[in-house]
Amino acid sequence: MKICKQVSQIYDWLDSQIKSMNVECQTCGKCCNFDAFGHKLFITTPELLYFKKNIVISSEVPINRDGAEKSIQKNICPYLKDGKCAARNFRFAGCRIFFCKADSEKINKLSEQAIEKFKTLCDEYNFPYRYVNLATALNKFDLSF
Ligand code: SF4
Ligand code: SF4
Repeated sequence: MKICKQVSQIYDWLDSQIKSMNVECQTCGKCCNFDAFGHKLFITTPELLYFKKNIVISSEVPINRDGAEKSIQKNICPYLKDGKCAARNFRFAGCRIFFCKADSEKINKLSEQAIEKFKTLCDEYNFPYRYVNLATALNKFDLSF
């Protein structure tokens, strides 16, 4: 699917931007426990599409065909396994951008740039754009666009 390929390209761009920021992460997974950490993760619809398309064919995470099994309980990301991200290759822009020790101004700017790219992608493919909390996306969002 072409739109998914472009989501992947946006992630590549994002990863290169982040690399140049030289920020440190201990991959402790604490920020994926949203309430305990006081963190919110918002994602865009093209990312959700990309995630669901890839996660069902991946052997990284046991999941049923439509991904519905992975609803959020207690506001902890269901892909957090033993303190690590079990969906690392397909994780969302917000997961890639957030660093607890980074300059929040730089993070916000990068986040805005990424969102703009996802919006443009939706315009290009006439795909519905939404920016929603991960819990809403996984628990309620109907992906059968
Ligand atoms: S997808 Fe991975 S990195 Fe993102 S919140 Fe879930 S466990 Fe954390
Ligand atoms: S950003 Fe901070 S809290 Fe999140 S995994 Fe990295 S070190 Fe842990």
